[in-house]
Amino acid sequence: MPELPEVQTIVNDLIEANLAGSTIRAVRVNWPRSVAGMSPAAFSRRLKGAVVRSISRRAKYIVFSLGSGRTVLLHLRMSGRLRLVAAGAAPDRHEHVCIAFTDGRELRLHDTRKFARLYLCGPDESILAALGPEPLSPDFTLGRLSAMLRTRARMLKPLLLDQRVIAGLGNIYVDEALWEAGLHPCRRARTLSSDERKRLFDAIPRVLKRGLANMGTALGAGEANFLSVAGRRGTNRQQLRVFRRTGLPCPRCGAAVERIIVGQRSTHICPDCQRQHH
Ligand SMILES: [Zn+2]
Repeated sequence: MPELPEVQTIVNDLIEANLAGSTIRAVRVNWPRSVAGMSPAAFSRRLKGAVVRSISRRAKYIVFSLGSGRTVLLHLRMSGRLRLVAAGAAPDRHEHVCIAFTDGRELRLHDTRKFARLYLCGPDESILAALGPEPLSPDFTLGRLSAMLRTRARMLKPLLLDQRVIAGLGNIYVDEALWEAGLHPCRRARTLSSDERKRLFDAIPRVLKRGLANMGTALGAGEANFLSVAGRRGTNRQQLRVFRRTGLPCPRCGAAVERIIVGQRSTHICPDCQRQHH
């Protein structure tokens, strides 16, 4: 699933392609459930003629701000991918939504597993309001993270995956951040010392910035792989310290990386650098 660095890479590609300023000519929905909360017909009708003012990211959502004050949100979930092509380009059987622009381009949502969702929000309603702070923004402070950790009994891994707590992290970057901070994913948040909280506060932006600098993490060779709009695979996989490196040496101490299950999620740790009990 694309996380903050991957979604931001896609947004950067769309901005670079000068999609902002484009006018929507028509919307075609081939898989009705790709659109949440309204019929594909209503979605298409409301978008026709709308101008895309800007494209940005919030958490793992791609945010298309329209001239009308409305916003289109896209969550790519497991396998959603965007292609920006010339009208008339050969369609793919996994293309579920096509947004055609008056300039002759089409933005197509390709999704083998069909979990990706588009949402059309009015000016005053937004599903973004419930999300936690952006970890690469000035809103994310040591004080705010510490206050959140001190009051929670939950284990670190599920807590950091919770988008209401911190926005944009997923399985890859939570595992990497916990390794970076030397914290076991099953530690209870409120048991962290102030030194451990500081280490986690430093680790989260560090792993995200590294992912972003490498234009995201592409895993495996399968169809559910991450690809940016410009077709870039991202090279961050080579920079991962523990994620999906089971049995390989920890880059810090050389111990073999282990895979465990935490909160039903596959989790990767160094058993020596990330001890549960100190
Ligand atoms: Zn280690």
